[in-house]
Amino acid sequence: MRHFFLYCFLIGLVACVSRENPQPYQISQGETMGTYYRVTYRGTDTFDRQLDSLLIAANEELSTYIPQSVISRFNRLSAGDTLVIDYGEGVDVEVRHLYANLDASTFIHTLTDGAFNPCVMPLVNYWGFGYTGREPVTQVDSVRVDSLLGLVDLSSVKYWNEGRFFFMTKEKPGVELDMSAIAKGYAVDLLAEWLEDNGVGDYLVDIGGEARGLGVNAKGRVWSTGVNTPEEDAALDALFAVIELPDKAVATSGNYRNFYEVDGQKFSHTINPKTGFPERNRLLSVSIVAGDCMTADALATACMVKGMPEALHFIEEQDSVEGYFIFSDDTGNLTPEYSSGFSTYLKSEE
Ligand code: ADP
Ligand code: MG
Repeated sequence: MRHFFLYCFLIGLVACVSRENPQPYQISQGETMGTYYRVTYRGTDTFDRQLDSLLIAANEELSTYIPQSVISRFNRLSAGDTLVIDYGEGVDVEVRHLYANLDASTFIHTLTDGAFNPCVMPLVNYWGFGYTGREPVTQVDSVRVDSLLGLVDLSSVKYWNEGRFFFMTKEKPGVELDMSAIAKGYAVDLLAEWLEDNGVGDYLVDIGGEARGLGVNAKGRVWSTGVNTPEEDAALDALFAVIELPDKAVATSGNYRNFYEVDGQKFSHTINPKTGFPERNRLLSVSIVAGDCMTADALATACMVKGMPEALHFIEEQDSVEGYFIFSDDTGNLTPEYSSGFSTYLKSEE
């Protein structure tokens, strides 16, 4: 009899464990796009190799740090010349990496009234945040900034496809593309959609803090991710807020880490495409929640350019997009403000 009870207890225990967590969680991780990636997903198979090769393939089109990438070849192209990429038989060119980023960039560029502009590359290089090297500008040459501003012109970039061939031209010499503000979000979606296509129903894809989650984590809870405290001297893991991702993506932009200082003036990597200068305003960090990470990523950068309160007003106008903003108030205190639907995603203190 004693054995019978013990037996029942053990069966119950196994049933309980397997109901809560019938399959283990896998982690695939590594480096990409100048940062880390970490993919956590439920299932018995590991997809290290597949996920890594997806990221490599995306970078071979999108990275300005790879001289032979498609974007780098476009950037070196002379005006009037045409870049031709043969993707081979049966490939749907319109869903290829650069094509997809160009389509999304054009859409977000219009939506944000030009605050997001993928043609900022010459200015990003000038200010020392691009592929030509991390050289701080010690003497600002405003005549040069003005002339580079003339190259921030998306209408001079033309791209199209004919069957398996992808074509690109630029109408103005010197126009260059930079997908840094949208490519990480794109890559998050790429991995997330690959996992879904391969039957994974519970995952969190995280590339350098841009994330997308579906289903639940190993504890059976909705995935969550932290918003860092936007202060230069804050600990790298200091969290200001925690955001839940019930089948949603989040992207955060901030100017508190990627900047340099010359004669007390701070220059950061967000470029205002209207002035040609790095944008610094009271807005220190923006987290955007959207259905896809690509949109979230690009909108977060656009919000940094817009500043407060325009960024908040802009996000309120968008359907299915919410934003969490941290800015410094008159006395320099960090103050959060968020769009009306954002509270659903804010994890309450437990
Ligand atoms: P992070 O690279 O830290 O994730 P963002 O997503 O905000 O930050 O992207 C910033 C990068 O995007 C810059 O380093 C620059 O290459 C590019 N960029 C800067 N300003 C703009 C802009 N207004 N529109 C589009 N891209 C931009
Ligand atoms: Mg961005």
